[in-house]
Amino acid sequence: MTLVVLALDALDAGLVEYFAPETDGLVLESSAEIETYAYSKDEPFTPEVWATVATGLEPPEHGVTGSGTSEWENPLLELGSKVTGRLDEDVRGTLGRLVRRTTGQRERLASTDAETTFDREGAVVRNWPGVTDGRDLQRAWDLMAAASEDLSRSEFDRRLLGLAAEQFGWAREMLEHDVSLAGVHVHALDSAGHAYAGDEEALGHVYGRVNGFVEELVDALGEDDELLILSDHGMRTTFYPPDGDETPATHSWRAYATATTDSLPSSVYDVVDWVDEHWERADGDDEEVDVAVDRLRELGYVE
Ligand SMILES: [Zn+2]
Repeated sequence: MTLVVLALDALDAGLVEYFAPETDGLVLESSAEIETYAYSKDEPFTPEVWATVATGLEPPEHGVTGSGTSEWENPLLELGSKVTGRLDEDVRGTLGRLVRRTTGQRERLASTDAETTFDREGAVVRNWPGVTDGRDLQRAWDLMAAASEDLSRSEFDRRLLGLAAEQFGWAREMLEHDVSLAGVHVHALDSAGHAYAGDEEALGHVYGRVNGFVEELVDALGEDDELLILSDHGMRTTFYPPDGDETPATHSWRAYATATTDSLPSSVYDVVDWVDEHWERADGDDEEVDVAVDRLRELGYVE
């Protein structure tokens, strides 16, 4: 049995309903809005919340907070979200300088020293903010930075969804192995939400593509496998009525969870306990791979 935990950044409970039926695959056996929190900013902040999901701890305890590294405080995200779709030349120039400055001084993203739910036997995790090295997340952020300069929409969508496809493909492959728990974070809806908060059709298209990826993953689940999908926050848009008085392209409080099981975590703090309840030990063997080292040496692959 494999339990898959899919972290769909910025998957918004309200927009899942708004974009139906294109989002029907995002409504599994149980689904609900879940409680999230803000700590270092006024709204839920991605790395802090995902580190909480993985550890069950508050930011001062897991140690991944806004002040962790300069990269977490990516100024592009904040500036970019305020000027989405309305970039004049001056702003583009400023963003360009910021891109060069941040990419020129790339640091490792902060990760927690605390025990995480992925430390258990047979668990694997890819691209989880605050847990893994975050290279995939950096790719998504770089893409957003490029979009605020001069990237076309078609290239933005192609690269963003190409990255998401890699992450969903990885999750599907884990189902073929003796993996007890597989966790993966996908940033597509957050990047698309910041870029397309004022464009219902464009954001709806990305929701539809993500819905398709989820349907493929659900189809690949074995009889005993389970899937939990959750988000850290949602995204405010110009076209979703309850966001009328809010600033578009900022994080909403509509975090969401849906699962193939009949219970759900009720908040981002509860996910560790929920995984404890639903996880089962894998029964793989630990036979080692028998590599012909001499052949590899002849080929120059090893010293
Ligand atoms: Zn986020």
